[in-house]
Amino acid sequence: MPGSDKPALKLKRLQDLDVKGKRVLVRVDYNVPMKGGRVVDNRRIRETVPTIKHLVEAGARVTLVSHLGRPKGKPEEKYSMKPVAPELSKVLGLPVAFCGECVGSKAEAASKALKSGEILVLENLRFHAGEEGNDADFAKQLSRHGEVFVQDAFGALHRAHASTAGIPKNLPGGIGFLVQKELEFLDRVVGNPERPFLAILGGAKVSDKIGVLLKLLERVDSLIIGGGMAYTFLHAQGVSIGKSLLEKDNVKDAQAIVEKAYAKNIQCLLPADHVAVKEIKADAERFVTQAMAIAPDMIGVDIGPHTIEIFTEEIAKAKTIFWNGPMGIFEMEPFSKGTIEVAKALAKATRKGATTIVGGGDSLAAVDLAKVDAQLSHCSTGGGASLELLEGKVLPGLAALAC
Ligand code: AMP
Repeated sequence: MPGSDKPALKLKRLQDLDVKGKRVLVRVDYNVPMKGGRVVDNRRIRETVPTIKHLVEAGARVTLVSHLGRPKGKPEEKYSMKPVAPELSKVLGLPVAFCGECVGSKAEAASKALKSGEILVLENLRFHAGEEGNDADFAKQLSRHGEVFVQDAFGALHRAHASTAGIPKNLPGGIGFLVQKELEFLDRVVGNPERPFLAILGGAKVSDKIGVLLKLLERVDSLIIGGGMAYTFLHAQGVSIGKSLLEKDNVKDAQAIVEKAYAKNIQCLLPADHVAVKEIKADAERFVTQAMAIAPDMIGVDIGPHTIEIFTEEIAKAKTIFWNGPMGIFEMEPFSKGTIEVAKALAKATRKGATTIVGGGDSLAAVDLAKVDAQLSHCSTGGGASLELLEGKVLPGLAALAC
């Protein structure tokens, strides 16, 4: 990756692989939200269409594997991939078969019976403990489904599992078009971003984001910290945060990040006012604080109107923007305004020529809520993977494929 501290990995791309008429095993990330046995958001399915179409047009026999949810190593009906096959078929406009196993004789017979251009979806990889345990034998069983392996599950690349780190030990392979696109956009941020470069981080967990924050401080011109994680930063600054979210173990790290930003002359913006409640429930009475401080019996649940103004102005100035994590408890409509306004400000910045990259399931849900997804430069399908790439980590799923 240009600009990163690590030497770039040499990876084969789908267009470099000979897939003509071959049995091709594709790892996709179809970990899609489901409700009542139906796929409610098919973004991750849509994003794999270019790879699958390329394979079908080359006459490959295509077997797709993915995980869905957290079934803990054994079958659970609610995590079955079965509803995914008709959804993919609808998106592709092509027939898609399904097999209720992912390894074993039944699954192997199904993948081997595929004819040129046919597509098969196998059952959830995580119905077997061998997937998350990166079991060599499980990886070998999976590898029997193909002569060539294509990795297109960007959202799973930061996990060393059998289907990411294991399969490439048995099969030649490379990265699909979705992984290529994701890497290209994140390269722009890590490599040579057009300046000013602004990173916006939110969400609940500071601990998850310390590493990336430290790394971002080497690259950004300004930083916005919002959402639940902002309260640990405010607390570290001596601001009263009432009963808002606080990660006590991370107060020192938060302080160090603010100090480092100051020393490097990087603008680090924290919320200047808040929407606060006495109890986290959608119909709770909302109060807007007058300043940064929150009363002892209150909980901050969203950024306030003055903060929205400040953040929006900062966004309008930037030429490259990376966003991960909501500004408040946006799943509850009354606390979603700050997150939606940030999403809208990003769309506006994109229209004015900025490159905007959004990563993470929650931020993407917010972008959908604000109806601006098509207006951003890139919506990443992998929150964790994109953060780890920004941190400069080598993703196990890519390292395993390196030539
Ligand atoms: P994360 O997984 O760390 O990106 O956190 C995402 C979650 O952060 C979402 O489910 C939000 O509801 C939650 N969140 C955002 N702001 C707050 C807040 N002020 N208090 C509690 N949770 C929050």
